[in-house]
Amino acid sequence: LPDADTGALTGADVADLLPRPVAESDKYRRGVVGIVAGSESYTGAAVLAVGGALRAGAGMVRYAGTSAPVAQVRAAWPEAVITELDGPDLGGVGRVQAWVLGPGLGTGGFARELAAQVLASDVPVLVDADALTLAAGERALLRRTAPTLITPHAGELSRLIGVPGARIEAARLEHARRAAAELGVTVLLKGSTTVVAEEDRPVRVNRTGTPWLATAGTGDVLAGVAGALLAQGLSCYDAGSCAAYVHGVAGRLAADGVPLVTTDVVAAIPEAIRSLG
Ligand code: AMP
Ligand code: MG
Repeated sequence: LPDADTGALTGADVADLLPRPVAESDKYRRGVVGIVAGSESYTGAAVLAVGGALRAGAGMVRYAGTSAPVAQVRAAWPEAVITELDGPDLGGVGRVQAWVLGPGLGTGGFARELAAQVLASDVPVLVDADALTLAAGERALLRRTAPTLITPHAGELSRLIGVPGARIEAARLEHARRAAAELGVTVLLKGSTTVVAEEDRPVRVNRTGTPWLATAGTGDVLAGVAGALLAQGLSCYDAGSCAAYVHGVAGRLAADGVPLVTTDVVAAIPEAIRSLG
């Protein structure tokens, strides 16, 4: 793509875009993010997404899930406000300003019902992981009218737009941009570099990450971070690109030349934000 069609945020740009509390702030106005992630088989995804959202400054994180992930989230994050689901009904969760949907959620009937409820909401939704797989078979993304940020890696985008993963990897910017236009959503395409594409905007490329981030669970943290920024009022475009930046820096701080585990990335988010200048 010509240079005019791409751009990158600097640390100073991200520092300016990140919401900061003011004297009048209260926890509701600082952003309530709802997280529908994790399942009986995949409990860690819930813990990591909730952690990312809390560390990215949400005023409140509401987590909804079944008993196994609820127990893990409760143990890891006493700050989270938890709804234990005994059926696929999010009616008891309370108001949120944005949703994070999908990490570790599974693709069975229960997950499908939860995803349908979140996608029908009129607040911004971040769609990741298993929720992308669920959405691929339906026209659910096309039907949404509120802002939608999808966060696929190449394999997930492949299923969504029916283009082989290798072709996406060979032309990541172009495919992210085309998917954004076709689906009417903001696309954050993950990989060694992360690109954020939205119709009529320059594609933002993020290179702050490190290959050490290629480990299980790091995408779940990114989803939580971006969801918290959406709940705090950032657009999908800014939330996605700021989240990618901060997540990449946190990965570098956590790895520092040695292997990281994903929990370290969550723990490094405060230092990553502090380092923006
Ligand atoms: P997921 O694909 O959901 O597991 O998310 C993986 C996360 O790690 C994303 O934020 C990717 O951008 C990042 N990541 C994966 N591989 C690399 C790599 N080789 N270099 C830098 N970041 C990577
Ligand atoms: Mg993932």
